[in-house]
Amino acid sequence: MGWPIPALARAAGRCGVEIVEQAEVVEIGVERGAVHGVRTRSLDVAAPHVVNAAGTWAGRVARLAGIEVPITQARRQLYVTGPVAALPPSFPLIVDYHHGWYGRREGAGVLVSGVLRPAEGFSLAPDPGETSRALQEAEARIPALKGAKAVRSWVGLYDNTPDNHAILGEAPEVRGLYIAAGFSGHGFMHGPAAGRVVAELIVEGKATALDITLLRPERFREGRLTQEPLTMHGDRG
Ligand SMILES: Cc1cc2nc3c(=O)[nH]c(=O)nc-3n(C[C@H](O)[C@H](O)[C@H](O)COP(=O)(O)OP(=O)(O)OC[C@H]3O[C@@H](n4cnc5c(N)ncnc54)[C@H](O)[C@@H]3O)c2cc1C
Repeated sequence: MGWPIPALARAAGRCGVEIVEQAEVVEIGVERGAVHGVRTRSLDVAAPHVVNAAGTWAGRVARLAGIEVPITQARRQLYVTGPVAALPPSFPLIVDYHHGWYGRREGAGVLVSGVLRPAEGFSLAPDPGETSRALQEAEARIPALKGAKAVRSWVGLYDNTPDNHAILGEAPEVRGLYIAAGFSGHGFMHGPAAGRVVAELIVEGKATALDITLLRPERFREGRLTQEPLTMHGDRG
């Protein structure tokens, strides 16, 4: 069985969708308050509907259309340790909800989350200076990790909104420009449903599979936010 995303891409291909990879959007065409296409580094695409699904970069992409979308970056370094024989071969994901820490088995080793902090820019470069603190924090929660070394490390950027909920809907300032971004640490889980409702918005003019009122882009300027507590640990300091 394949991974889900290639399966979705294959299914889209069967419906006639053409996927162009490595095509950075550098301009979004807007005239009289409506979108009319995008320019990438390699081609121009005329389109009455454009979806900004650029993840943590969606604020930057929105500015190409002259609008602000409040998505900020938080970086988290992750580690996989060498083999840890003192632990059972499998155990559930462990989450320290109050401090935003988690760990789980990854093969013979253990995957542990590292420091979570606001990011300046979009760098994905690991910071070796954070490793010893991350391993100490892991050992404090799982004593069997005493002496464990990190054999692999990488950085991920969260795509956070002010209330830690996604932004789903047509941009109020630009007709035909839809935002599907800012999933704030929920994007794997919410992605398939988000795709469905955005397709409904475009084809049918409204979302019917789910009520997405809470996620509308206008909520920020209206000041009507509903805070999602589970993934806001980075904001608690
Ligand atoms: C450490 C970590 C742990 C996480 N754990 C979970 C979890 O357990 N469960 C969960 O549901 N979510 C989790 N998330 C969140 C999840 O990874 C994201 O919400 C999700 O990947 C966002 O998907 P997306 O499609 O919106 O954006 P992305 O997957 O970021 O895709 C955006 C795409 O837009 C492209 N792009 C950017 N700019 C342009 C441009 N100008 N032109 C064209 N393309 C552009 C980018 O290259 C990228 O391919 C985690 C995130 C992190 C960092």
